[in-house]
Amino acid sequence: MKLDVKPEEWRGKHHPFMRNDEFASIFGPEVARDVNLLEQRASSVCPSCRGKCCQMIGCELYSPHLDFCPIYEYRPLKCRLFFCPKVTADEESLRIAEHMSNIILNRFGPGIIFDSPPAVLGEQQLQQSMGEKAKSIIQKLEREEIAPDRARGLLLNLIRADMT
Ligand code: SF4
Ligand code: SF4
Repeated sequence: MKLDVKPEEWRGKHHPFMRNDEFASIFGPEVARDVNLLEQRASSVCPSCRGKCCQMIGCELYSPHLDFCPIYEYRPLKCRLFFCPKVTADEESLRIAEHMSNIILNRFGPGIIFDSPPAVLGEQQLQQSMGEKAKSIIQKLEREEIAPDRARGLLLNLIRADMT
C-alpha cells in the first residue's frame, strides 16, 4: 500500500488536526474505510451520549455548553480513532476496529497506540501548541463571558491558524 505521507514525516511536521482527506492520505484507504464503517455503527448508538467520549479522551475542545463539536471537520486523531465498547459491541464492529488498529500498529509501530483503539498520535502536539489557548476559550464560554457561536469561531480560527 503506497501512502502520500510517510509516518516519520507526519510525526515531524503535521499537527494533530486534520481533514478527512488528510487522514486518508496519512493512514491509507483501508483505515479510512474502517473508520467510516465504525462511524456508521456509532451513528446509531452515539446520539444519546452527548459527548461522553469527548470527556473520556480529555478533549480540550469539549464543553457541555456547546451543542456539537466546534471543529468537527478538523477533529484530531485521538477523536477520530476512538470508538468505545458500545460501538464495538457486536462481532463485526470489533473485527473492523481490530483490523484498523492492526494496520496502524504495523505502520507506526508500538508505543503509539496504548489501546486498540484509541491511538494517541499527535497528543503531545495538541497539548503543547493548542491546549492552553483552547482551554482559555472554553473557560470564557463556561463563565458566560462569550457566547457559544463566538467560542466556536475562536476555536475554529485557532485550529486553522495552526494548520497554515
Ligand atoms: S463512542 Fe461511545 S462514548 Fe462516544 S458518543 Fe459514541 S457511544 Fe458515547
Ligand atoms: S474533537 Fe470534537 S468530537 Fe472530537 S473529542 Fe473533541 S469535542 Fe469531541
